[in-house]
Amino acid sequence: MSSPTNPGELAKHRGVYTPSAEAYGGTAGFYTYGPVGAQLKQNIETAWQQRFVTQEGHNEIEAPTVMPEPVFEASGHLDDFDDMLVDCPECGNSHRADHIVEDAPDTDIDEAEGLVPGRIEEIIASYRLECPNPNCRASLVDQQVSGFNLMFGTNIGPGSADPGYLRPETAQGIFVEFPRLKEYSRNQLPFGIAQIGRAYRNEISPRNALVRVREFTQAELEHFVDPERDEPDLESVSDVEIPLYGAEAQQAENGTVQTLTVQEAVDTNLVHPWIGYYLGIARDWYDRIGVDMDRFRYRQHLPNELAHYAGDCWDAEAEVDGDWIEISGFASRGCYDLQKHHNHSNKGYTIFREYDDPKTVERPVVDPDMSVLGPRFGDDAQRVRTALEQKLDTSPQAFKRGEFVTVELDGEQHDIRLDVTGYHEQEQTEHGEHIFPHVVEPSFGIDRLVYTVFAHSLCVDRAGRGETREDRTVLSVPAEVAPTSVGVFPLGDEDSLVDRAHEIVETVRAAGLQTEYDDSGAIGRRYYRQDEVGTPFCVTVDRDGLDDDPETVTLRDRDTAGQVRLPRDRLVDELTALCAGTREFGALLEEYHIETDPRSSIPADD
Ligand code: AMP
Repeated sequence: MSSPTNPGELAKHRGVYTPSAEAYGGTAGFYTYGPVGAQLKQNIETAWQQRFVTQEGHNEIEAPTVMPEPVFEASGHLDDFDDMLVDCPECGNSHRADHIVEDAPDTDIDEAEGLVPGRIEEIIASYRLECPNPNCRASLVDQQVSGFNLMFGTNIGPGSADPGYLRPETAQGIFVEFPRLKEYSRNQLPFGIAQIGRAYRNEISPRNALVRVREFTQAELEHFVDPERDEPDLESVSDVEIPLYGAEAQQAENGTVQTLTVQEAVDTNLVHPWIGYYLGIARDWYDRIGVDMDRFRYRQHLPNELAHYAGDCWDAEAEVDGDWIEISGFASRGCYDLQKHHNHSNKGYTIFREYDDPKTVERPVVDPDMSVLGPRFGDDAQRVRTALEQKLDTSPQAFKRGEFVTVELDGEQHDIRLDVTGYHEQEQTEHGEHIFPHVVEPSFGIDRLVYTVFAHSLCVDRAGRGETREDRTVLSVPAEVAPTSVGVFPLGDEDSLVDRAHEIVETVRAAGLQTEYDDSGAIGRRYYRQDEVGTPFCVTVDRDGLDDDPETVTLRDRDTAGQVRLPRDRLVDELTALCAGTREFGALLEEYHIETDPRSSIPADD
C-alpha cells in the first residue's frame, strides 16, 4: 500500500477535521472535528484513559479551564511562558524567531527553543535570515527578538479587578488541588491524578493543521511519588524495546537512534527509572492505537531545553511528511510545582511521611512568658506567640544571637527579650516528617496524536484487492479507535433486505458498536466509502442469505477486502470479538464458508 496524495483534502471532505468557522474566513489555529474525527479523537481519549488511568489504578479529575492570576504567578507561567517573537519590518507579520533559525538550512540548528533572544538575534544577523512569508522575504537582520507570553488573558466577572487566564496546560488544575487530592488518597503516596481537557495557547504562528493550534486537548497524568521510597514496576516493562535518541547522540556528529530495552536504558542511566517505566507502557500503547513504530522515537531534551527543575525529560516523536512532531512529553519534575504552590498559597502541599520507627530528637521550641506578653500586648498576646513560633520556623538563627527577637504584627515591629521567648532545646519523639512528593508527568497532546494516527494509517491499496478494479484509499486504523466499527448494507432495495439490514443495525448498536447504515450507490462504492473512514467491518444482506437455512449474511474485512458468509445469529458475537481484538478475521475464514474473490459477490448490474 502507498500513501494518498492529499490527506488534508480527504480530512476535510470525509468529516475528519476542518479549519473552524470557514464561513466567516476562519481564524488560524482553530479546528473543528467532523463526525469521523470527533469519534476518532474520543476513541483515542478512551484508550488513553483505559491504559494510563484505569489500568494503572490512578484517578481522574476535571478542573476549570479558566483560573485566576495567582495560580499562574505561582506556576511561573505569567513570567516565563514565552515564545520568541520577531516582527517583519516589511509585511508586518509576526513569526516564531526560533523556528526561523531551525528552518534555515545553513544554520544546522535543529532545536533553538532553548536559546536566549540575544543569541537568536546574533544567528539571524550572521546568516542574514529573512522573513519566511514567500511573498515578502525581507531581511530580519537588526529586528528585535522578544518574548511573547502565550496565555490568553480574560477578566473574571465585570471590570478588570480579577484577571484570569485560559489554562495553557491541564496540569496546573491538578497541582493546585493537591491539598484536597492528598486527603482523598488518605495521605498515602504514590498516587496518580489524570486529566483530559482543553488547553489554550496563543501560538505566534499556528501551523500544520492540528500540529500547532491555539486550542487543543491534553491528556496529562501527574504521578506523585516519594522520591526515596517509591519505585516503578520496571519488571512489567523491562523487555519492551524503545527507540531512544539521547541528548549525546543528538549532539554527536553521527549520532543515531538506539533501540534498547527499558531495563537496559535504566541500567545504563540513560533514562530515569520512572520515566523508563512510562516510556515502556506508552510505546506499546502508541503501537496499539495505530502509530507506526517505524516512524516513532523518543528524543531526550538537550541541556538547553531542559527546565531547570527537571531531572530528565523525553519527548515521544512521530514522523509525518518528513517532520518529527512532538506528540507527548515525559518529565521528571521533582517537587518544583508543589513547592511553588506551597510557598505562594501557604496551604499544605506536603505529605506526612511516617518513620519506620519513631525518632527522639532535640528540637528548638519557644514557650513565651505570657505573664510578660499579656500585660504588654493585651488581646494580641496570642498572635505574638504565633509570630514567635513562625519566626523560629523561618529564621532559627534570630534566636541564637543578640538580646531581642523582632516580630512583626500588623506591619509594626516589636522587640521581644530573648528570655521572654522561652527559647530552648527540647527532646521530642517524632513519628515522621513532612516531605514534598516528586512528580512524574506523562503529558500527551491528543490532537497531534489524531493527526499522526490519521497520517500513519491512511494508505492507498493499489493491488486491486477491492470490489472494483480501482485503487482504494484505506484508513487502516485499529478497530479499537475506528470512528465507526461496522457498516451495514442491503444489497438491493427490496423491503425484506432493507428491513433485515435495519434490524441488524439495531442489534449491532445494542451490543455497543458504532454502526452505520448505507443503501446508496453501488455496493463497491459503499465499501470504499467505509474504507476511507476506517470502518473495519461491513455486513451485507443479500437475497441468497435470506433464503439460506439458517439465514446468512456476508462479513467483509477492510484491510484484506476478504469476505466470509456466516449465519446471521453468529454475527453480533463475532463482530464483538473482532472489534475487541479477541478474534482474528482469518479464524472466521477457517470456520465459515469463504468467499475468495470479493468481486464474485457483486451482481453484474451493480
Ligand atoms: P508541553 O506542555 O509544551 O510539553 O505540551 C505537552 C503536549 O501538548 C505536547 O507534547 C503536544 O503534544 C501538545 N501541544 C503543545 N502545544 C500544542 C499546540 N499548540 N497544538 C497542539 N498540541 C500541542
